[in-house]
Amino acid sequence: MPRAVNPKALSARDVTGEFDVLKQPMPPLPITYTRARIGIHCSTAGGVEKAVERAYRLGCNAMQIFSSSPRMWRASSPAISQCVEFCRLAHQYDVDPVVIHTSYLVNMCSKTPEFLEKSVAAFRGEVQRALALSAKYLVLHPGSFSGGTREEGLQCAVDSIERAVDGIDLAGKNFKILIENTAGAEYSLGGSFEQVAELLRRLRKVVPVAACIDTCHTHVAGYDVVSAAGFEDTMQQIEKTINLENVPVWHCNDAKAARGSKLDRHANIGQGTIGIETFRRLINDPRTKDATFIAETPVDVPGDDRMNVEALKGVVA
Ligand SMILES: [Zn+2]
Ligand SMILES: [Zn+2]
Repeated sequence: MPRAVNPKALSARDVTGEFDVLKQPMPPLPITYTRARIGIHCSTAGGVEKAVERAYRLGCNAMQIFSSSPRMWRASSPAISQCVEFCRLAHQYDVDPVVIHTSYLVNMCSKTPEFLEKSVAAFRGEVQRALALSAKYLVLHPGSFSGGTREEGLQCAVDSIERAVDGIDLAGKNFKILIENTAGAEYSLGGSFEQVAELLRRLRKVVPVAACIDTCHTHVAGYDVVSAAGFEDTMQQIEKTINLENVPVWHCNDAKAARGSKLDRHANIGQGTIGIETFRRLINDPRTKDATFIAETPVDVPGDDRMNVEALKGVVA
């Protein structure tokens, strides 16, 4: 059979046609789950509630979505009936937690005033939609401070997040904003654990906050997650800065690029420069026992999403 390549695979992480699990035969029932919460970024094509059905059919007990198009400023909110159906299905299938990834356009430390204001407004919408969908976590890339200093960027991100949630009552809600570590590109915030920790320290006064650590970003930023000793050293560095208790979600992505390359290209689990052993160590580490593991891997051929979920489930001891 010819292997079709999904043209959208690397851009929007969206699926259509034969790439869509909803168009494929139902998996054999019952679906089995592991002790660990494992999920993948799912498409919301056809309505946000369809994403839960996709997660379920892929064998996930956790999931991540975009709550609006990740490359468009204009976000339309799902109807109340869709939010209700989304929550009903998530409960029925025990897909928990639901994680929402913020739009790629949002830059909370932009030096361009117009862009910054659009980002603040868009992020406010992200928070509101996350609450409407009972998502526990909203993942945010801290932004790019190109044109300013790192310190200005850090403080601008904190101030912008504070402005975005103004008047939204987050106290007592089962909801946190997660700052994701980045691949360490020149002007991006969050390329080191120290920077993520510093952001968390400042943001704690403003919003409920924790971190999301991405294995690919960690590796290409230069940390060793591949050798056994390197993995342990990297975990200890996270413990000393962010604290592993503050990492409820891990993005599990293998990498196409070399360690330290700062090139953020995700590869299938076990097929990149990281390798399967890192994921085995991570998921079975007692320090991550309460964490959720989400793949954000490309769907280059139909079934790649299922293959990556199964690869992660397959290492759970
Ligand atoms: Zn990620
Ligand atoms: Zn990435």
